Amino acid sequence: MIRAENLRHVYKSSSGNKVALDGVTFSIGAGEFVAIIGTNGSGKSTLAKHFNALLLPTGGKIFIDELDTTQEENIWRIRENVGMVFQNPDSEIVAAIVEDDVAFGLENLGIEPAQIRERVDLALDAVDMNDYKKFAPSKLSGGQKQRIAIAGVIAMQTKIIVFDEPTAMLDPLGRREILSMVKKLHAQGKTIIYITHFMEEAAAAQRVFVMENGKIILDGTPREIFTNVKEMKRLGFDVPVAVELAERLRKKFKLPPKILTAEELAEALR
Ligand code: ADP
Ligand code: MG
Repeated sequence: MIRAENLRHVYKSSSGNKVALDGVTFSIGAGEFVAIIGTNGSGKSTLAKHFNALLLPTGGKIFIDELDTTQEENIWRIRENVGMVFQNPDSEIVAAIVEDDVAFGLENLGIEPAQIRERVDLALDAVDMNDYKKFAPSKLSGGQKQRIAIAGVIAMQTKIIVFDEPTAMLDPLGRREILSMVKKLHAQGKTIIYITHFMEEAAAAQRVFVMENGKIILDGTPREIFTNVKEMKRLGFDVPVAVELAERLRKKFKLPPKILTAEELAEALR
C-alpha cells in the first residue's frame, strides 16, 4: 500500500522556486494498476521519483508500505520494494553485456552468484530476451533495451514497479510489447504505477490519475475518466480511439453510453 498525504515538492533554484507537486493526497492498494496522465510539466515524473525516495518531500509525506520516505533508515527497504523504469532506455543500461546489465541491481544487493544467474535467467525469460543474454545492449532496438531494463526490475523482485513513460521513445510494436509485459506483471500481483501520454495505454489500467499543475485533479476508472469526452477535451487530452468513434457515431446511431474499448464498440454496432 502506498499513501501520500498532502505531498509537496518545490524545486529551488537561483532563478526562483517551482512548485512541482502542490499537495497531492491518495492511496494505492497492493496489486493495483494505476495509470497517470497529465500534460507536460504537470508533475508526473516528480511524483514518480517520490515512490522510491529518489526525491524527498519538501512538504507532506509519502509512505511505501507504511515506511515514511523522509526517514533515512527506511530508504534501503523502500528501494528494495520499488523498481523504476524510465523513458530513455539508453540512460538505463549500465553494463556492456545484457546479462550483466540485468544482474547489476542484484550484485549491489550482495546476492550469491548462483542465485543471481538463476534470477537473471528467469527475468530474461519473462521479457522474452533470453536469446540475447550475451549481446551488447547497444546492438538492441529501443523496445528490446526497454525489455532489458524491465528484466532488471523483475530480477530485483520488487512488489511495486513504477514506469515513467517507458514507451515514449518506441514504435507501435515496441509499445504493444511493453504494455503486454506490464499487464502480465500486474496479473502476477505486482503493484503497477504507469505514467503515459498514450490514452490507449492508460485505458488498460484499473484506475487513472489525471494531473495538472502539480495536483491530481481526477481519480477514477478508465471508463469514468475517458468517457467524459467533453471534460477530457477541455483539459487538453485525447480520448481512446474507440471512445472518440463512439461519440461521433452517436450523432447518427443509437449506441449505449460509456463505450471504452474497440471490442465494446464493435459489439454495440452489431
Ligand atoms: P512531467 O513529468 O509531468 O512533465 P515534471 O515532474 O518533470 O513534469 O516537472 C514538473 C515541473 O517541475 C515542471 O514545471 C518542470 O519544469 C519542473 N522541474 C522538473 N524538474 C526540475 C528540476 N530538477 N529543477 C527545477 N524544476 C524542475
Ligand atoms: Mg515526465
